[in-house]
Amino acid sequence: MSDNGAANDDYNDTHRAFLQALLARQTITFPDAKPLLAAIQSAQTPNRPTLPEDISQEDFENYVHTLNSQVSPFDLEIRSTLHQQTKERIYALVNTTSDALTQMATIHSADEIAFVKRVLDGMFETYNTQRAEVMAVTSMQALKLAKPSAGEERRRESTQTQGQTQSANVGLTMAQAEKVLALMVEQAWFEFSDRGFYTLSPRALMELRGWLIETYNDQAQGEGSDAEEDDGEHVKIKLCQACKEVVTMGQRCPNLTCNARLHGHCVGNLFRAQGGREECPACKHAWLDAPPVGEKAARQGAQQRRTTASSNTGGGASRGRRQTQSVAEESDAESGANEE
Ligand SMILES: [Zn+2]
Ligand SMILES: [Zn+2]
Repeated sequence: MSDNGAANDDYNDTHRAFLQALLARQTITFPDAKPLLAAIQSAQTPNRPTLPEDISQEDFENYVHTLNSQVSPFDLEIRSTLHQQTKERIYALVNTTSDALTQMATIHSADEIAFVKRVLDGMFETYNTQRAEVMAVTSMQALKLAKPSAGEERRRESTQTQGQTQSANVGLTMAQAEKVLALMVEQAWFEFSDRGFYTLSPRALMELRGWLIETYNDQAQGEGSDAEEDDGEHVKIKLCQACKEVVTMGQRCPNLTCNARLHGHCVGNLFRAQGGREECPACKHAWLDAPPVGEKAARQGAQQRRTTASSNTGGGASRGRRQTQSVAEESDAESGANEE
């Protein structure tokens, strides 16, 4: 790669090898790419071996650039994003056009795709409410979705999987569902956290961004006037106020009716951009003790779900005194239980 100026033109075996590696592993970071590219280049010119430390960020970016000009006719693109937790920059080969659910590559049967859709609904509807934006599901919660619920038939009419044969609609066995979940992690669509939650991976967030907004936000707007909707005003998919990417882990505005969200790693950038003012860019509320978005919101969520069920006030939007009291009582009960 001595002549970087002509990088676009010299697509060669090293680029093909790098593309193969990327296809096999789905995502890559620059530190992971260094030994890989060094090995690929050394194989190309054995008399002039390349060491991992010889691979600069610029070399890596040149590979990405050259590959992108090669794969774009196939509606593919290498994109990058920061991991919301590790803050590493993740590169992934992303399909730029086709429908999200059919992209979930080797998952073929309609029942398997329908299960994945139910898990996504779990992440972005059931466990993503104004009270608790978990945006993740535990294995237990995911496995409970192995079979379709009674109400699913109605909702399925609006999904993209409609064109496929859905007549059987029997769902999966627990073992099948477990296998699909493992495959989703293996293919870097899902991540499985230390605390046992499935979330969308950085690769999935890049690839599914448009689909997530279309699927979960449009629906919320469409049903906004429907009083039956638990929290119709809650925008399901929200973008970071600083970097404009989807937030599934991060912070929310302390004003719980405000839709402003930030990634943990974007908070500092935003405050600097605001000249040091540590306030919400949307509602100007002080950005202090911002509640979490992501699995950290799950414990709160569990309390509040029980509260909602016991108080049974109907519309989730009503914030009656009774409900507030219940939350406090539940919290007391919870902390009491922890002391034992
Ligand atoms: Zn951000
Ligand atoms: Zn706000």
